[in-house]
Amino acid sequence: MRTGKVIIVGGGPGDPMLITIKGLEYIKKADVIIYDRLAPLEVLKYAKEKAELIYAGKERGRHYMKQDEINRILVAKAREGKLVVRLKGGDPYTFGRGEEECLYVVEHGIECEVVPGIPSYVAGLAYAGIPLTHRGLASSFAVVTGQEDPKKGFQAVKLEDTARSVDTLVILMGAKRAAEIAKKLLNVLPPETPVAVVMNATTLHQKTLIGTLKDLLDFANKNLIKPPALIVIGKTVLLRNKLWKKDA
Ligand code: SAH
Repeated sequence: MRTGKVIIVGGGPGDPMLITIKGLEYIKKADVIIYDRLAPLEVLKYAKEKAELIYAGKERGRHYMKQDEINRILVAKAREGKLVVRLKGGDPYTFGRGEEECLYVVEHGIECEVVPGIPSYVAGLAYAGIPLTHRGLASSFAVVTGQEDPKKGFQAVKLEDTARSVDTLVILMGAKRAAEIAKKLLNVLPPETPVAVVMNATTLHQKTLIGTLKDLLDFANKNLIKPPALIVIGKTVLLRNKLWKKDA
């Protein structure tokens, strides 16, 4: 039997129309699809009738499928000769562990291809009417994680330094630590700096909170920030008043 192959597909952040044509083609061909919680689940309806669909995310009363377990399934299914699609939210190589999974698969002698996806910080901001850059207002941006692996033992994201040196700052995975993040940023940025929190971006449940850095602390203290959320800091947030956006 011929060995199968693993394709890591980025599905975009939620709106099923935002998957690429290449990604969708692989969804249609796959024998097995292992998908995450933040992947655009509606695209699964394009899977073959006989395709095996495996959920790898968190479910009530059930634990996360551990990363090792996901890696092992990818390899085992490919060894059965199957075309295995690993469907992820956004882009697989942007805080998506797509690289870890691909490295594991390749190290086990199996071919692994990647289909990039539109990351949440690109699509989510666009759907909220917030450009990452603007000729007069922002000529640089940074995307950082708000949640780091404590096992690393050092702080890889120097939040204050980054905030000082870029015009637009986007924080992923920051919902649960928004108060702490706001306090850190208030050390280096004026309290009136514009802020947006875009939750469930590009989905039917998209919701955006708009305010200042001072308000961010307030939003966090009032428990208004629910994951998945993008926290955006910078002047381009103000353009939202004029630009197209998906939420009111
Ligand atoms: N690979 C993904 C990111 C995975 S990390 C990408 O390219 O976007 C998970 C984080 O992404 C979440 O905590 C959140 O900050 C962000 N995210 C993903 N989908 C989102 C969505 N629909 N709305 C808001 N934030 C989202």
